[in-house]
Amino acid sequence: MMDGDATFVAPATPFGTSGIAVIRINGALAPKILSKISNGTKPNPRTATLTNIYNQKSELIDECIVTFFKSPHSYTGDDLIEISCHGNPVLVKNIISTVCEMGARIAEPGEFTKRAFINGKIDLLQAEAVGALIKSRSDAATKINNQTLGGALSDKLNSINNALIGVASKIEHAIDIAESEIEASFYKECNTEVRAIIDSTKQILHTFEAGKMLNEGIRVVITGKPNVGKSTLINYFSGSEKAIVSETPGTTRDTVESLVTIDGVPVRFIDTAGIHTTDDKIEKIGIEKATTEIGFADLVLYVFDDLNQDKFPSFDCPFVYILNKSDLHKKIDLDDSIIHISAKTGKNVGYLLNKIKKTMSINEVSTDTPHLISSHQHTAMSKSLASQKTASKLLSQASPEMELVAYELRDSIGAIDTLLGKTSPDDILNNIFKNLCVGK
Ligand code: GDP
Repeated sequence: MMDGDATFVAPATPFGTSGIAVIRINGALAPKILSKISNGTKPNPRTATLTNIYNQKSELIDECIVTFFKSPHSYTGDDLIEISCHGNPVLVKNIISTVCEMGARIAEPGEFTKRAFINGKIDLLQAEAVGALIKSRSDAATKINNQTLGGALSDKLNSINNALIGVASKIEHAIDIAESEIEASFYKECNTEVRAIIDSTKQILHTFEAGKMLNEGIRVVITGKPNVGKSTLINYFSGSEKAIVSETPGTTRDTVESLVTIDGVPVRFIDTAGIHTTDDKIEKIGIEKATTEIGFADLVLYVFDDLNQDKFPSFDCPFVYILNKSDLHKKIDLDDSIIHISAKTGKNVGYLLNKIKKTMSINEVSTDTPHLISSHQHTAMSKSLASQKTASKLLSQASPEMELVAYELRDSIGAIDTLLGKTSPDDILNNIFKNLCVGK
């Protein structure tokens, strides 16, 4: 349960040793609690104040810098205090437990951002962007998420919604007046407006694949029989010795992952245990894991090194066949579907990377426009588009059923309102905030 009046506390920086650690206290009790644990310190808003923090036995915990953000001028919109202490988890724990003894409770994941949403500081799209920004793994991803956080996506959706509301009001007005008073061109004009809205909605929907790819990245699973050069290939991609390369078949008993950024897209290469029959118990587990990984892959790279291999597995997702160890082979004619490389010397690996980019449609992504990033955003916009299309179809009829057009337009507006958080069901809200970390 989240309690709007409660004062809560959490570390805002990760657990571990660091230069400093930041603790946040949010809620009406925050200034009082600070005063109690710091011998009466009352910091001026937005000013860094050096103060000692003490436990309940008046023993010094640490010398800290505190900053007070007075409601409503804070991230959350509530009174918010940030305590910067030395970056030691013991100090962080002691300060948090003292704050809790004074009446605060530990924050739930994403609760600071939830308060910002409830207090109208940000809308739901911006709240989602906070989570995405924290997890961004490339420059391109941080750029698009920062745009959404700044409100660029909300502006676009609000402008679509305003245009929808404009047409809907005209239609509702037309329902209220006599048909004879409606101009012959009225339906056509309304339909032109709806078509323009459809174009804008489609443009936004087109950003989803790139937005999702930039944020979630893609999973590329490298598979094949033992000793064909899978580990050598992942090592080549990652430029380090991540996977153990050996001449004994069956060395990669577990999966090894390497994250590489290709044109701003985080690509996770997963080196799996060679798939073959084995009696070795541990190897068997590795092989089972490999099969599971293949099930979650966006792309499979199937590596082999035998020129005479004529049977190849097929996969449910896009895949590339790679004949490795080209340095050991004589010049041969190959089917276009097979890429001949040497993972050891790197020959043709650039060509393979281009093939991966082409297969997965990894293009230079424009970071000048905001992108849809989550499936629920895509679903809502698709729903909105479907209603717009139905409204347009109705409007193109000789004598349109105006009530039905109005109904479809309202549905379309409703779908966008859900995304902005105006009418979002609790489960969607809870899902978004619980995916954020504690302290955010
Ligand atoms: P895995 O079991 O499929 O992961 O295979 P490894 O990457 O461990 O490689 C098995 C052996 O093949 C090692 O001795 C590698 O050095 C060797 N190897 C891998 N790629 C090449 C290559 O392109 N050319 C040659 N000549 N040897 C390779």
